[in-house]
Amino acid sequence: MKAEHAMPIENHPPDRKLTSRSGSERVEVKTTTCYMCACRCGIRVHLRDGEIRYIDGNPEHPLNKGVICAKGASGIMKQVSPARLTQPLLRKEGADRGTGTFEAISWERAFAILEQRLAKIRATDPKKFALFTGRDQMQALTGLFARQFGTPNYAAHGGFCSVNMAAGMIYTIGGSFWEFGGPDLDRARIFFMIGTAEDHHSNPLKIAISKFKRNGGRFVSINPVRTGYSAIADEWVPIRPGTDGAFLLAVIHEIIATGLYDREFLVRYSNAGQLVNCDGDSADEGLFVPDGQSPEVNPQYPQNKLWWDRHTNRAVATHSPGADPFLLGEFTLDSGVRVKPSFQLLEERVRECTPEWAAELTGIPAATIRRLAHEMGIIARDQKIELPIAWTDTWGVEHETVTGNPVAFHAMRGLAAHSNGFHTIRSLAILMSLLGTIDRPGGFRHKAPFPRAIPPSAKSPNSPDAIKPNTPLAGLVLGWPASPDDLFIDDAGKPVRIDKGFSWEYPLAVHGLMHNVITNAWRGDPYRIDTLLIFMANMAWNSTMNTSEVRKMLNDKDEHGHFKIPFLVVCDAFQSEMTAFADLVLPDTTYLERHDVMSMLDRPISEFDGPMDAVRIPVVPPKGECKPFQDVLVELASRLKFPAFTNADQSRKFADYRDFVINYETEPGSGIGFLSGWRGKDGKQFLKGEPNPRQWEMYAANNCIYRYPLPPSYQYMRNWNRGYLEWAQRVRMRRFGEPILIQLYSEVLQTFRLAAQGKRPGRQPPPHLRQRVATYFDPLPFYYAPLEAQVSDPARYPLNAVTQRPMAMYHSWDSQNAWLRQIHAHNYLFVNPRTAAAVQIADDGWLWVESQWGRVRCMARYSEAVEPGTVWTWNAIGKAAGAWHLAPDANESQRGFILNHLISEELPSAGGGTMSNADPVTGQAGWYDVRVRIYPAEPSEAKEVAPQFQALAPAPGTSRLRQLWLAYFAGADRLPTDRTKETL
Ligand code: SF4
Repeated sequence: MKAEHAMPIENHPPDRKLTSRSGSERVEVKTTTCYMCACRCGIRVHLRDGEIRYIDGNPEHPLNKGVICAKGASGIMKQVSPARLTQPLLRKEGADRGTGTFEAISWERAFAILEQRLAKIRATDPKKFALFTGRDQMQALTGLFARQFGTPNYAAHGGFCSVNMAAGMIYTIGGSFWEFGGPDLDRARIFFMIGTAEDHHSNPLKIAISKFKRNGGRFVSINPVRTGYSAIADEWVPIRPGTDGAFLLAVIHEIIATGLYDREFLVRYSNAGQLVNCDGDSADEGLFVPDGQSPEVNPQYPQNKLWWDRHTNRAVATHSPGADPFLLGEFTLDSGVRVKPSFQLLEERVRECTPEWAAELTGIPAATIRRLAHEMGIIARDQKIELPIAWTDTWGVEHETVTGNPVAFHAMRGLAAHSNGFHTIRSLAILMSLLGTIDRPGGFRHKAPFPRAIPPSAKSPNSPDAIKPNTPLAGLVLGWPASPDDLFIDDAGKPVRIDKGFSWEYPLAVHGLMHNVITNAWRGDPYRIDTLLIFMANMAWNSTMNTSEVRKMLNDKDEHGHFKIPFLVVCDAFQSEMTAFADLVLPDTTYLERHDVMSMLDRPISEFDGPMDAVRIPVVPPKGECKPFQDVLVELASRLKFPAFTNADQSRKFADYRDFVINYETEPGSGIGFLSGWRGKDGKQFLKGEPNPRQWEMYAANNCIYRYPLPPSYQYMRNWNRGYLEWAQRVRMRRFGEPILIQLYSEVLQTFRLAAQGKRPGRQPPPHLRQRVATYFDPLPFYYAPLEAQVSDPARYPLNAVTQRPMAMYHSWDSQNAWLRQIHAHNYLFVNPRTAAAVQIADDGWLWVESQWGRVRCMARYSEAVEPGTVWTWNAIGKAAGAWHLAPDANESQRGFILNHLISEELPSAGGGTMSNADPVTGQAGWYDVRVRIYPAEPSEAKEVAPQFQALAPAPGTSRLRQLWLAYFAGADRLPTDRTKETL
């Protein structure tokens, strides 16, 4: 399509500025995209004679507008980190995993090992290869690689991060927070932040909050801990972890009871008025009654539903001109079927969820809950915004303005990472909908390619027949189930995936369950695999639950002396705890050394006003023999002759990743590839167009982004905006054009429940899972205690323990960073002074924190900024001795700790055996559910963190010296000896 709204290639100074200085020094400024966290800010890298001197924010970048954080500015220290891996490494014959005993090998040998092994697996049983990745930004490529390989065993980090946030919101409103949508703080009057740490959308959110507060907006933070963003909130509302669902249901109760919901919005844009079959004897109980007189339109998203019209007092097709449905009441159809509007069922559900009920669970006084509910309801009702933007809805009604109800929310892992998180997040999405804030000014707004259909139309296969030797998988590796027919199970109902995603155990595991992979593969449940390739995920430390046991599993052997997980490949840029367990280590580049895309096929950097994608372009050459993982995948895909990577004459299609990005099309001739901007031979097309050989250069000349602002009439109400929906379908951003009605009541969930109740023909859960599915696949949100709390003794373990990510470090990436280490080199367990005093724990004193799964010794720090029933610490500051090239006695291992030792990846199952410590709907890891007790360490005990592990030696190819202080002096390369540089 022609890029009529696209930004032209601007005539600002070219991307790579070359400035002459006196003498022979060459000073350059190169733009690229930061990757010190996942926020994807634009940066300028300043170089002198090819050496990076400093990094600052790119003022011309629309996301961060020149702002940079501590991490972003410290990228230079990542570049020169002594922990950098520089050569492929092979575990020495006979050495144990975890000791990091390696020999350096060539890339040719590494590729030959992989090619031989993977070719054999692919030709015999492709599912014996599993690829799981951490916080990467290339899932469009890694997912394509897995699919072309033919394995179903692929996922990224979402299952242990925030899949509940994605699934709970997308199954309700067709979009979610973070990359998919967010709060419109430019116009909001009140902003509620719930369960959010400092990292997601970091700089853009900081900019937005600062502007919001200057404009007089009120900021309320609901969180067990007052840190980061919460520290500048106008009101902090402490809440017990895992009880957010109760709080939200009580707020919904108040909004409905006081009539503060936006009736007009709900009637037109949600399924609130649609009639639900309430006949207990019917096989269709709980499903929407179809209107036999209206066309279905699209069997995947049927449009023929009924309202009960207030004017005629009879059932009519939804959105009939002039009709106005009852939202409350009970009616009988001519057929005799008893029906209720879904809103009535919601009202019944929350009737008992009073503020008093929630106060008991959450610790928030009932009066506060009531006050906050009224505040949001009254602002939504009385401070409406009218933008003079005409638009037409999908049913043909023309609107002269866009209306906004200026109440905004933002939420993240604090809500998601609980085994009750899916229903909590459904509650939040429903509350936002009741207030009439979806894709409206001042409320929540989508980011392209969202909104998606509910559920999105992408599907993974539903039978093991999709897996065939030497053949791509017949379906996507990750999809969005709409019914039991979409589960990826065999005829006996058993999981096909190694992580059991899309099985009856975790039916809506739309991001997979990375936290289950090692345990399942080690146990051979549901089967054994051969090769596990892990990219950028520290599964032997902070990215795994039950760290100590998982480390044993990685090194465990069967009765024949063979590793239970036979071959372990790890790709990373640094010597982490995980690389020590690899059989083969592949040294990745840093983000400053490679091409990357933040693709419209994956998670682009779109803003509210339209699609935007971005790239990274190398600013320095790779260190040593480092190779970008993308290039490794393209090389392997070519050697293994995956169809999408091979020409008809069996020659390779793409020279490398750079070439792949330019020339790959989703289908031959589709004109759709990884990058949406500057497509077509002349670079004038957007989204669809022939490959453009100069595409990278055009991104480079435009701050590494392509932005496509939509006309204002397409920027709001996109779920139901005829113009936008037609445009999105035309450019293939959406497959279908039907409106995306908010699902207050989820028929998808009810479909699973009917199967579990034996009322639905076809697939039904095995007996031991029937009750579980029937309970948790409730079409309306409900509150239940997290699964871990259900199997914990509250008297013995009275406290919740949670972690938060600090602003200055991202996951485990940054302890090798000399500058960031100055901010965090160890961590404390933060304890409310009242809680600490009750068990005689001193400020700065050593204590034990213990769950039913394990215990950790660490240091306490008093803090009033935590509610008394919770203890918390920073995530991933603690390190195993010697990892990340830190000295064995570095603070990170002696005084830094992780809580992961206290968290089990499995819980006892009601029917015997175990289940993942995860949400029963989505498989989201229940990180924040662990229950603990604390007590002082004995004075005679060592003043060091426990448990400790044998110190790792530096891996071949990392810096030769262990430095007490990590330091770097620019220009030291030009000093006489390497030794000088190492010891400066
Ligand atoms: S917020 Fe993240 S992406 Fe932005 S500058 Fe900081 S580290 Fe980089």
